[in-house]
Amino acid sequence: MADLPPRKKVVVLGSTGSIGESSLKVARDIPDRMKVIGLAANRSAYSLATQITEFGVKNACLFDESGFSDLRSKVTSDVSLSTGEDGLVELATLPEADIVLIAIVGVAGLRPALAAIEAGKDIAVASKEILVMAGEAVMTAAREKGVNVLPVDSEHNAIFQCLEGKPSSDVSRLILTASGGPFRTLPAEELKDVTVARALKHPTWEMGQKITIDSATLFNKGLEMIEARWLFDIEMGRVDVIVHPQSIVHSMVEFIDGSILAQLSTTDMCFPIQYAVTWPERVPNTLPPLDFAELACLDFEAPRWDDFPALKLAREAGEKGGTLPAVLNAANEVAVSAFLGEKLSFPGIWETVTETMSSHSNIHSPALAEIIEADEWARNKAQELIS
Ligand code: MG
Repeated sequence: MADLPPRKKVVVLGSTGSIGESSLKVARDIPDRMKVIGLAANRSAYSLATQITEFGVKNACLFDESGFSDLRSKVTSDVSLSTGEDGLVELATLPEADIVLIAIVGVAGLRPALAAIEAGKDIAVASKEILVMAGEAVMTAAREKGVNVLPVDSEHNAIFQCLEGKPSSDVSRLILTASGGPFRTLPAEELKDVTVARALKHPTWEMGQKITIDSATLFNKGLEMIEARWLFDIEMGRVDVIVHPQSIVHSMVEFIDGSILAQLSTTDMCFPIQYAVTWPERVPNTLPPLDFAELACLDFEAPRWDDFPALKLAREAGEKGGTLPAVLNAANEVAVSAFLGEKLSFPGIWETVTETMSSHSNIHSPALAEIIEADEWARNKAQELIS
């Protein structure tokens, strides 16, 4: 029998979140192909301690230091523990790591991502902010270091699978599928009455609160358009969106000869996570197969570009580039948390983003510090607009 390829040693940043938990499910499912060697969580000391013990991890980070002594008391003394951004960077550059899977919500994943690339690690990216805010810088650094940026998001993972390394010159369009969110068929005039509880009910995917709201406004798809633009080195005009309520076709690539390849599976994040980890290999697992007879039909429809302005805003940000995508992202984050706190209406989310973007002076080919600065500026601006 041929030797199996070695186990991939994986660091999971954001291990107690929704994607993090799914990553650990994958690790349990294919233990001879994936070994978890580092874990980081934001503030869930108890969950992190449980994970550390289960996977026998020797390096971990609790971002919020207030839970540190709690964590220390729950794990054995041979586990090296750290906190804060320095702790994340330390984990992201662990000498024995092959892949750093970054599933931290927000801007906190950016420095660890760049540090991992600098240290020659492949990164598996689940945090949208990394490519939205600093797509150009991250992809340039990855090319220079010869490391792979492996997409974990189901849409980008689908495109990655369809492309199989083909250059963007072979592609006529990337077609991102969107579930359309819970308000796909809601009349435009009723969007202003959308409550937090209604917006948090996603029809197909179970996810964290922020991304669930982003799916309802379509900002999630907008951010994914920008990500795709950088990840696959293709201009915004060739990144398209189609609504597909069943979320079975995870995305498609239309090639210049008119052929379209699509990637399909049941809606479980373990599929894209596993492929990002085992790539370029395919490995059997215990995930539920797709039953076409039961599925019966797949629907597609055009997105409502005018009723859900997030898509147009994202296209604009992706076309203009510079610091504008970071501004869109930051303003949206502030607006979503105001909406969740019932301080902003549902349409108030894109109104806040629109206004923040239009008052920003865009900086082209920004340095990392300028991106962070634009992010902070946009947060303040959005906050000011809301209050
Ligand atoms: Mg997605």
